[in-house]
Amino acid sequence: MSKDKFDTLRIHGGYEPAEHNNSAQIPIYQTAAFTLGTAAQGDAVASGEVPDSFTYSRVGNPTVSTLEKRIAELDDGVDAVAVGSGMAAITYAILNVAEGGGRIIAPYDIYGAALDEFETLFPKFGINFDLVENINDIDTIQQLIQPDTKAIYAESVSNPTTEISDVEKLAKIAHNANIPLIIDNTFSTPYLFQPIKYGADIVVYSSTKGISGHGNVVSGLVVDGGNFDWNNGKFPQFQEDEYSLKNSKFPQNYSFTNVFGKQAFIKRLRMKYLRLMGAVLGPVDAYLELLGLETITERIDKEVASSIKIAEFLSNNPHVKKVYYSGLPSSGQYDLAQKYFPKGIGTVLSFEIAGTSEQTDQVIDTTKLFLYLPNVGDSRSLIVNPSKITHREIPEERRIKSGVTDQLLRLSIGLEDVDDLIDDLNNAINAAFD
Ligand code: PLP
Repeated sequence: MSKDKFDTLRIHGGYEPAEHNNSAQIPIYQTAAFTLGTAAQGDAVASGEVPDSFTYSRVGNPTVSTLEKRIAELDDGVDAVAVGSGMAAITYAILNVAEGGGRIIAPYDIYGAALDEFETLFPKFGINFDLVENINDIDTIQQLIQPDTKAIYAESVSNPTTEISDVEKLAKIAHNANIPLIIDNTFSTPYLFQPIKYGADIVVYSSTKGISGHGNVVSGLVVDGGNFDWNNGKFPQFQEDEYSLKNSKFPQNYSFTNVFGKQAFIKRLRMKYLRLMGAVLGPVDAYLELLGLETITERIDKEVASSIKIAEFLSNNPHVKKVYYSGLPSSGQYDLAQKYFPKGIGTVLSFEIAGTSEQTDQVIDTTKLFLYLPNVGDSRSLIVNPSKITHREIPEERRIKSGVTDQLLRLSIGLEDVDDLIDDLNNAINAAFD
């Protein structure tokens, strides 16, 4: 997909004004339900025989659907489902693939709540995780694949240490084992990286972050690449008959793979997880997200440029022990950064203070422009201490192994003047070492 195409799709993708009273902006369909017409029409709509029809906003809504289509187009997917949070997106994607039990391979170095869910909650549902120190250690991953392994999961750029996953290699190993690769692409957004192009099968987002870009909505997205063969015998849930899909076109053999072909995964996620578990995104939130998405290129270009400058400033600061920003030439992953991220690795970076945890706290307390809160991808710059906030639930020993010490601070770079941001950090670091 060319840059022009991306820039056109982020404005127009998935939306035809003529289908919405010629409204230039996407209308907010603030309704719980949609009238069904005659009883015969109601029957046809409810049976799924009428494409792009709506019945009830838990299952689908035109504002939300525009967001879903637009993201699917931006990411080169066949379809997407929007949900109420990034955690719901991760949860539904994992359940849809490994429901009934199985194993999933993932790295330790991921968002704290996701790791907590993988280690402490999913095992109670029969889904166990083989967690690895380094997701790019291909030999280890290969050895961990067992007959009941259902997927490989990784973040394209990890939270908080910005480790880049070698998506192309992971996709190859996964596909050799007839399992899908699921990528959390939150930090990258579809602007910086499109995992499906490199072989990922399912992409999940916390669109709370850079996609919406203004810190005003909590939301998640699941995108289906449509290339994985769910008929390969390892995933019976897609092959068994699903009574709700039975209609005049499919009086028999009404499984998800049979009825939906390439869209089996995402249709099942909507029908079995969004519809039955209900973590729905509201139309106002979808509207805010679409509005944010319109300026993603300009926002992220500026934020990436500032992130590089700030990473360089921190790298040269004597009170900083280590900077985590894989886009730096000094990073051990610069080759992967160049291969996968020609427009930059993102707007989040972390750094370790060469001092005590009290001095680290002082940096937080002294910054004026950086807001202290647990989020990223806002137009405002943000600071957080992951060990106490975003990765608090991870046991200390484990955290430290992943670099999440009490001296680690994570920054999310916004749209302010970069010199002001550097001054603010400089003052705060100097004050802590006074
Ligand atoms: N994935 C990543 C990489 C995240 O950073 C986060 C939140 O910080 C999530 C998922 C969860 O998203 P949400 O807070 O929208 O549930």
